[in-house]
Amino acid sequence: MMPKRALVVGLGIAGMSAAIGLRQAGWQPVIAERAPERRRGGYFIGLMPEGRQAAEDLGISGHLHTRNPPGGGKAWSLNRRGGLEPGLGFLHQPGDPAAVVRGDIEAALWEGVCGGGTDEPIPVWFATKPVGIDELDGGVRVLLEDTRTGALRNETFDLVVGADGLRSNVRRMVFGPHEEFMTDWHAMICAFQLKEQVPSFGESDSVTVARAGRAVWVFGFADRPPTVLLTYRTDDVQAEFAADRIARLREVFSDLDDPVVRHALDALEETPDFLFDSVHQVKMPTWSRGRVVLVGDAAWCLNLYSGMGATFGLLGGAELGRALRGHPGDLGAALTEWESRLRPSVVKHQHMARLKSQMFVPSNLPIEAVRSVAVRLACTLRERRRAKAQAA
Ligand SMILES: Cc1cc2nc3c(=O)[nH]c(=O)nc-3n(C[C@H](O)[C@H](O)[C@H](O)COP(=O)(O)OP(=O)(O)OC[C@H]3O[C@@H](n4cnc5c(N)ncnc54)[C@H](O)[C@@H]3O)c2cc1C
Repeated sequence: MMPKRALVVGLGIAGMSAAIGLRQAGWQPVIAERAPERRRGGYFIGLMPEGRQAAEDLGISGHLHTRNPPGGGKAWSLNRRGGLEPGLGFLHQPGDPAAVVRGDIEAALWEGVCGGGTDEPIPVWFATKPVGIDELDGGVRVLLEDTRTGALRNETFDLVVGADGLRSNVRRMVFGPHEEFMTDWHAMICAFQLKEQVPSFGESDSVTVARAGRAVWVFGFADRPPTVLLTYRTDDVQAEFAADRIARLREVFSDLDDPVVRHALDALEETPDFLFDSVHQVKMPTWSRGRVVLVGDAAWCLNLYSGMGATFGLLGGAELGRALRGHPGDLGAALTEWESRLRPSVVKHQHMARLKSQMFVPSNLPIEAVRSVAVRLACTLRERRRAKAQAA
């Protein structure tokens, strides 16, 4: 029997994971990526145990470079009086997240896509995006555009996987407009890499400055300079995109005149590349329709405050492969099983993200105060646990 063909749209974490999962299930996937080449680098990601297990299941964990400083590294928090206190870093949460940049996960997945000498490489069509998707009897016809030349061609597949991120075009074409599924969190992020650590801190230290409505996070690594996250709350997301981005960030953080914030803002002016975006969650009643399925941010967007988006990008692909292996002749049954396995934990993390967002950036002064007390308490308990473990 001829292997079934699948088109995976998007060469991010979710797309590459899904393509490898499909290959494991005996399918013949091909990836279409809008960009002309593979992206690299990126911001800090804490990869949780479910994500690491999924990397193992996808056969790529041996390629995954992790960058945890010993013991999670030192974390500091800058208080309102400008004093430094022990803080809680992202890596200190339960589950021992693996510290990586997004590009580390994508590089490991890329090794898997290329086959690693044992599997058939998965073809990747760069500079290609779908502009029409029509379900036919027994297949899906996709109109593909070459983004360099504008040339169009039709291809037919047994399955289309939309892994094209938060503002997914596959979702828009097949399920409906963005407004129907994207919830607005009235918050902005800016993420970038530092050339060097904030002066006077250890190379792999992490630092947080969290004030009502805005926060700066410096994420330390064992073997490379930190990355920075600037995040703030806003009533009008559209207006944030209209303004000059760096000038707007300087305005938002203008009253936080301390060396950490100054270093981050100065570095932002010099960085060749930064991510500036609004924060959303995607909520859909179902992630598949006929022979089209969405994965990763396109389907559920567990945003950065949840700290689970990359983890579930990997998991979604690994589980898709598992479900297709379990139902080789019945795509509908495979997609139903896949969604019912994933949905409860996605929904749980979507709910928890609201609470976690207050740890990232408290929305007002009372929450800022409660957050500071909670961090101090957690640091004291952590210190006691460590002392006890050393004494034992
Ligand atoms: C600052 C920040 C910090 C984060 N921290 C964490 C963390 O600590 N832990 C964690 O688990 N997650 C974290 N996340 C979330 C995580 O990075 C994302 O959930 C994950 O990378 C999404 O992967 P994806 O493949 O679904 O989408 P994307 O990464 O958006 O990839 C989509 C791909 O599709 C391509 N594409 C788009 N449109 C088209 C089109 N029309 N045709 C063809 N190709 C197209 C894009 O070019 C891209 O390559 C963080 C996110 C941010 C922004």
